[in-house]
Amino acid sequence: MRKLAAGNWKMNGSLAGLGELDALAAACPDAACEILICPPATLIHPMVARIKGGGIAVGGQDCHAAGAGAHTGDIAAEQLRDAGATHVIVGHSERRADHAETDTAIAAKAAAAHRAGLCSIVCVGETEAQRDAGETLDVIARQLAGSVPDCATADNTVIAYEPVWAIGTGRTPSDNQIAEVHAAMRAALVARFGDGAGMRLLYGGSVKPSNAATIFALPDVDGALVGGASLKGADFAQIVAALDAA
Ligand code: PEP
Repeated sequence: MRKLAAGNWKMNGSLAGLGELDALAAACPDAACEILICPPATLIHPMVARIKGGGIAVGGQDCHAAGAGAHTGDIAAEQLRDAGATHVIVGHSERRADHAETDTAIAAKAAAAHRAGLCSIVCVGETEAQRDAGETLDVIARQLAGSVPDCATADNTVIAYEPVWAIGTGRTPSDNQIAEVHAAMRAALVARFGDGAGMRLLYGGSVKPSNAATIFALPDVDGALVGGASLKGADFAQIVAALDAA
């Protein structure tokens, strides 16, 4: 299994800022792990053109479940693929919250990604209130069951565990809390998909150069989905190096 360092630029970045991509590429010419950047949709094709087949993959941050049609403002998985994307994030907690995305809708988006030949990165994660109420494992089990489509395989699907309260806050779960959730996710995937359960499990939520090595040493952590620290090529390169060293 090749580990994955995935960056989510969210609604940040511009054509003028693509030098950060050059800095990342220059800092990790021989990375063993897979490196992915998911920029805003406007930057996907410029990034693909700039990388020129180099060792960094480019992905979308969302896709529509339909292949085409009257859905103003949305982007089909096929269009992401056409622009050169190879991956797409679905079910990020910011989209679950801002756009009221349900598990069913997210599973349909992931299935659309697979039909288009993209690898989906399906996000799950509990809120702080759910963790405080002792509901974390139930929430993760429900989101996994509902958001991961039956067509998921180890090749076309990555799961990202992103506690909502850890995103952009500088706070992270304890090592034991991360390990507990990742073990539960692995067990749920094995129970549902059997041999096909070798999907990569990423941790996401305030991953930084200073905590990456500790997180990557945990069992069943196969990489990270990184927001803020992926915006600077030099910072993300340190996270890539930590993943390679794990
Ligand atoms: C994210 O939004 O996917 C994320 C993990 O953000 P951050 O690394 O900034 O917490």
